[in-house]
Amino acid sequence: MEIYNHPTFHMACQQFDFVADHLEIPEFERPRLKYPKRAMAVSLPINCEDGSTRVYSGYRVQHHLTLGPSKGGLRFHPDVTMGEVAALAMWMSWKCALAGLPYGGAKGGIACDPHHMPLREVERLTRRFTQEMIPFIGPQVDIMAPDMGTNEQVMAWIMDSYSMHMGYSVPSIVTGKPIALGGSLGRREATGRGVAHLVQRAAETIGLNLHNATVAVQGYGNVGAIAAQTLAGFGARIIAVSDMSGGVVNLRGLDLEQLARHLAETRTICGFSGGDTVSNEDLLLLPCDVLLPAALERQITEKNAGEIRCRILAEGANGPTTPAADLILAQRDDVFILPDILCNAGGVVVSYFEWVQDLQSFFWSEAEVMQKLFQILDQAYDRVWQNARAEKISMRTAALCVGIQRVREAKAIRGLFP
Ligand code: NAD
Repeated sequence: MEIYNHPTFHMACQQFDFVADHLEIPEFERPRLKYPKRAMAVSLPINCEDGSTRVYSGYRVQHHLTLGPSKGGLRFHPDVTMGEVAALAMWMSWKCALAGLPYGGAKGGIACDPHHMPLREVERLTRRFTQEMIPFIGPQVDIMAPDMGTNEQVMAWIMDSYSMHMGYSVPSIVTGKPIALGGSLGRREATGRGVAHLVQRAAETIGLNLHNATVAVQGYGNVGAIAAQTLAGFGARIIAVSDMSGGVVNLRGLDLEQLARHLAETRTICGFSGGDTVSNEDLLLLPCDVLLPAALERQITEKNAGEIRCRILAEGANGPTTPAADLILAQRDDVFILPDILCNAGGVVVSYFEWVQDLQSFFWSEAEVMQKLFQILDQAYDRVWQNARAEKISMRTAALCVGIQRVREAKAIRGLFP
């Protein structure tokens, strides 16, 4: 599958093959489970504010459609490629199945830098991408959501573009929308709060008291910031945070309110006076109780896995740890891993709630959303932890086994058409 040639896709395939060996899935069954059902690549020309025209590349991969529509985020980042998107779509499949949601996985992206583009160009690009995707998306086909570099406003433009095409409002075409357009209470916070909730469960498992526990966060965006604020609410000390520009560290604990004011003014962590400067690489090596990578893939590799000094590795990001790093971490029994497909599943769970609410035009209270979210996350955590203990396998392998088995079973029961 040459079109997916990318280190992150190879990594997702390696994880799949490892679990397929463990589950003794016959070779002939594997390609049907592993490779995406559909992949679209589109050229997106837009008029720029300076009068020129620029063409961007956009991608959408729908990994499987066996259990229902496909579901997954849309990423705006300069390094987005078809292979990266395909890996993220595959992980979405296992994540949705682990949480018991009626979805296959999907992911999309546009190779662009939204932080250095005028807002009107970001809007044109989003609308153009939606227009190109119309034959392939729909509330019963494929539903997008925010990911890195996209937010509620981008979801609102997608919803508007799709609705203009249909001739009536279709809120269920995207999740992570503003509340005013049929978004769900609690969606914006869901991933980060879910991460913090599962860190609490992991801390109970290993006997770590979160009061005064130290936390380092790589990627202080939607997921990282909400998780950090929630953990601070549990009494933890956030000692380091970072973004694309670099990081800041203060072993006594960062003042998150002061940091929020700095970010509101400057939109970057760079220049924050509440601590000392730290690079993104060094942040990962800080001694801490909880290390929370919440930015990009492949941050913990064979080069630094032996040196990280945390008790819980909470994977807010998708794919932050490579298989080579996993092998090194498996030799150490001092790091408890909350694998990505479990740790950050809160986002897609509340996206599912949003979709259900939109389809029924019947909306829930935030308390109801959160109670149902934690119930699903607790079930998933218990199942993974029990599986890991019973089979003597890592938390990642245990989580992937649950997700992959559910998709495999559904494919087997449906059979092959024609
Ligand atoms: P975001 O755009 O809100 O935040 C990303 C943060 O990471 C920003 O602070 C950005 O500056 C920083 N960053 C980017 N490149 C970096 C780099 N090279 N080094 C350090 N920091 C860097 O994105 P988000 O929605 O918080 O997503 C973060 C991660 O969480 C992604 O891996 C995404 O796939 C995953 N995730 C997000 C959701 C969700 O609901 N938003 C759900 C599940 C998983």
